Amino acid sequence: MMIVMKEEATPEQIDSVVKRVESVGALAHVSEGEVLTVIGAIGDREKIANLDLDGREGVDRVVPISKPYKLASSQFKHGEASTLEISGRLVGGGNFCLMAGPCTVESRGQLLASAEAVKDAGASMLRGGAYKPRTSPYSFQGLGSEGLRLLAEAKQETGLPIVTELMDARDLELVLEVADVIQVGARNMQNYALLAEIGRSDRPALLKRGPSATIDELLMAAEYILKEGNENVMLCERGIRTFEPAVRFTLDIMAVPVLKSLSHLPVIVDPSHAAGRRDLVLPLSLAAAAAGADGVIVEVHDNPDEAICDGPQAIPADEFDDYVRQVRAVASIVGNEISAL
Ligand code: PEP
Ligand code: MN
Repeated sequence: MMIVMKEEATPEQIDSVVKRVESVGALAHVSEGEVLTVIGAIGDREKIANLDLDGREGVDRVVPISKPYKLASSQFKHGEASTLEISGRLVGGGNFCLMAGPCTVESRGQLLASAEAVKDAGASMLRGGAYKPRTSPYSFQGLGSEGLRLLAEAKQETGLPIVTELMDARDLELVLEVADVIQVGARNMQNYALLAEIGRSDRPALLKRGPSATIDELLMAAEYILKEGNENVMLCERGIRTFEPAVRFTLDIMAVPVLKSLSHLPVIVDPSHAAGRRDLVLPLSLAAAAAGADGVIVEVHDNPDEAICDGPQAIPADEFDDYVRQVRAVASIVGNEISAL
């Protein structure tokens, strides 16, 4: 249930509603907008319904939220899309976030060359994995803390915010030292303990949809992060498993408008991991931009033929300029501009 306070509600009246909600063991999530304060009451449905908050001093109205996810629901923000501010870049609300970089950090030379190229082409953020979730335990697993150190150097060199994956809550402190956005990989979408840890930090999160997860399951996973107080969550469609074997995964482009109608959270598309093939990355990115996505996360490598992982899907760094030009053009048709500093 959502309690919308009157414009003129005093801090004491807001506090008194919070206490009332908490008195039945429910969670009171206070969201202070520019004009209004909204309190989300989350917990036992029946107990909350009996709180009798309608007509209480300072309360404008009480609105039930019908979805199982509450804080992620578009109803929670009265149908308004959220705009996140991440290290000076805006995401959502007309700001298209272009995250680009290699699949994994391989070496200083590779990372810095790729980082400079994506920066020069106009990317908003640099992506790169230090901890890699690989299907085979015998494949390269990432450079770990050394990879994080190189990412910090690339950030210093380019000024680009860093998007990097956290696989294990025990690495959170280290990752927090460099990540402007913590990526939750598709395989960890339902690792609820990890999600809750990220929720207890205030660091923005990019939550990838599991290859077999429904849209509702993705939104419930986002709820785990939001519930702990971290409001900076981006959802990411990265392809799902279907009966179609011609491509690695099937990009669920419909998830973009569906998620944007169900949730206020920004929606990012990863065409690289969906396709697994470089030739499909541009058309899928254009489709994502046209469908109203708030950004893309795309793999770019200075020398894809030599890449340790995901080379076949990486856009060569020297072709990235042209990619950005086309994505920018389509995004602008639907009123989105690539976000920069
Ligand atoms: C990645 O972005 O590096 C990655 C492994 O993606 P996903 O979790 O979507 O497979
Ligand atoms: Mn990859």
